[in-house]
Amino acid sequence: MPERVAFVSVVVGTLGRVRTLLDLVLPRECGGCEAPGTLWCARCAAALSGEPFVVSPRIDPGVPVFALGAHTGVARRAVIAAKERGRRDLAHQFGSAWARAVSGLRVRGEIDPPELSRLLLVPAPTRGRAARVRGGDPVCAAARAAAVALLPEPVAVDPILGFVGPVRDSVGLSAKERSRNLSGRIRVEPSRRLGGPRTVLLVDDVLTTGATATESVRALARAGVRVDGVLVITAA
Ligand SMILES: [Zn+2]
Repeated sequence: MPERVAFVSVVVGTLGRVRTLLDLVLPRECGGCEAPGTLWCARCAAALSGEPFVVSPRIDPGVPVFALGAHTGVARRAVIAAKERGRRDLAHQFGSAWARAVSGLRVRGEIDPPELSRLLLVPAPTRGRAARVRGGDPVCAAARAAAVALLPEPVAVDPILGFVGPVRDSVGLSAKERSRNLSGRIRVEPSRRLGGPRTVLLVDDVLTTGATATESVRALARAGVRVDGVLVITAA
């Protein structure tokens, strides 16, 4: 059937051209090291695939804090690419890395196994406008990707934390200023899914002073939610 062959070849040709155009508009390069031809290279994947390590932030949230990597090099660049440069594809990589970290924390006895309590991931709050400008909340997207990576285990992701009123961007603020900037400014949205025994992990992309984590843990405690730990991609 020559018409069908012609149609298929037109479609294939069009897809090829769309792909070429996309490559021009969205260069295919690694989200961490910018190596061409791949969205996430093996070297950068390795940078986030070690055992999660314990972090002691200057402002202590009072629960264990774990990070996948230091906020330097390719890990830092990947976090910034997801946050500031619209690399939404990296959420999948971060989510897979978090899923491996969750398994590692369970092996080490840091958090309960899924048979004892179901896992709930609570993304740290994001400034609404910032998330919109940047094309979605990368932390929430990464948490959802982690839940998918942990299937068939039922993992809940509940973005129940939000800021009260306008909050200054924390870039350039000291630990004390960050803490003051956020004090009492994080609240828990009414939620429908907080029943039964839960292992609650607060997740965020980067931990700097610990101010956001601390204020989030406090807000959750006020709402009767006990946080078992904080898991971030990178720690400064
Ligand atoms: Zn790379």
